Amino acid sequence: MAQKSLLSGWGRFPKVTCNLIRPRLEQDMRRAIEHPSLIPRGNGRSYGDAALNPLGVLSSLQTDRLRSFDPESGILACEAGLLLADLIAFALPRGFFPPVVPGTKFVTVGGMIAADIHGKNHHGAGTFCRHVVSLTLLTADGTIQRCGPDENAALFQATCGGMGLTGMILDAAIRLVPVETAYLRQETLRATSLDDAMALCEASSGWRYGVAWIDCLARGRRLGRSIIYRAEHATKSEVGGDPFGVPPRPVRRIPIDFPAWTLNRWSVSSFNALYYARARVGTSIVDYDRYFFPLDALLGWNRLYGRPGFVQYQCVIPRAESPAALRRLLERLSSAGSSSFLSVLKLCGPQAAGLLSFPLEGYTLALDFPANTANFNLMLELDRIVLEHGGRLYLAKDSRMSATMFRQTYPRLASFQAIRHQIDPTRKFSSLLSERLDL
Ligand SMILES: Cc1cc2nc3c(=O)[nH]c(=O)nc-3n(C[C@H](O)[C@H](O)[C@H](O)COP(=O)(O)OP(=O)(O)OC[C@H]3O[C@@H](n4cnc5c(N)ncnc54)[C@H](O)[C@@H]3O)c2cc1C
Repeated sequence: MAQKSLLSGWGRFPKVTCNLIRPRLEQDMRRAIEHPSLIPRGNGRSYGDAALNPLGVLSSLQTDRLRSFDPESGILACEAGLLLADLIAFALPRGFFPPVVPGTKFVTVGGMIAADIHGKNHHGAGTFCRHVVSLTLLTADGTIQRCGPDENAALFQATCGGMGLTGMILDAAIRLVPVETAYLRQETLRATSLDDAMALCEASSGWRYGVAWIDCLARGRRLGRSIIYRAEHATKSEVGGDPFGVPPRPVRRIPIDFPAWTLNRWSVSSFNALYYARARVGTSIVDYDRYFFPLDALLGWNRLYGRPGFVQYQCVIPRAESPAALRRLLERLSSAGSSSFLSVLKLCGPQAAGLLSFPLEGYTLALDFPANTANFNLMLELDRIVLEHGGRLYLAKDSRMSATMFRQTYPRLASFQAIRHQIDPTRKFSSLLSERLDL
């Protein structure tokens, strides 16, 4: 039943041969549970080693059926392998949109719950799991348990953000939000410095969505210069015509692995300068696909980093510490001339209920680094800054954090471990990430 497959996360680092099991039906899933060691896997869009286990990887991709939808309450029930892209294709023409989405629509519902993902609206809407009404979980002993915020709540809190370590999520019911159109009214702003960028993020906290692209190679007075995109769902009168008709976007595919040197200090700083100068400041109406998922139009963009792959370094820093910490991080990045060409700054709202959920009230900064020794050393330095300012790293992006740093920065780890030990005493569900972090 299992097939040997070379797998990785989106960062293509590390790559590991795993026994991949792809059940179609619930009974096949139950049979797969007899395997000695397993980790659930959705669409492999976590960046690092969270969905990797050489002994057994249990794919949800074949279990992607929609169960029900109630237009009165907006509650949609589906199997965990349903892709966000398919969920949107179903819900949007009916006037509903997911309450929280990440930066790509090629993720599964199960993957969004297991990482308790956050979106550009975290400051107002919280994480994805805040909108999960209930879920069912296939646990290590082969039983199926139902849980939700008001039912079996401890198991729910461990599963939301639990990175697949409490069992296989089979189904979930999610409350969607009503929208009038498939479009957003976007306002684009230019920030000339870090202080300016943070002031604009704060000033945008009344907007539903907000995100800043930040130039990590700018120095001196320009340190932290950014382009800020804030948005609201557009109304019918703002859009006109067919409110849910979105013209298909041209999609390109990166056909080959680029040479690893393609993204270097010079190519990235030229790209950044151009991006900053060319940004069209002002208000525009953009479709949901361009606003939320700009990178999805370039299929296989992870190949730009070449065969060695890349690492996404995403930290969150408590609000009071953010100005000092972000300045230190950016100063170190610009002096190292490191080529993080997609760097994103977001304001986060209060901490989620999930025991291992990532966001803290403050700012999150996400950086992409080619996987090489110089960047691994640089990330160790960034770790020290993050630690000194009370921040932490996001498990869904991680492939290199130490167990010590993890223990120091996730204070609810002991509660998570207690629940995990109760439902899976032999640690049947484990991953390279959980082994590395001694989770
Ligand atoms: C371009 C891009 C942009 C992104 N933007 C954001 C963002 O803005 N915000 C954010 O929070 N994240 C973001 N992410 C990360 C992504 O949303 C998460 O990593 C998500 O978990 C990926 O879902 P997946 O289905 O691909 O899961 P996988 O990567 O396959 O798995 C991720 C984790 O979920 C577990 N899992 C998967 N399915 C199940 C299941 N059925 N039952 C139990 N556990 C399961 C796995 O064991 C693993 O631990 C982004 C990723 C990419 C590539």
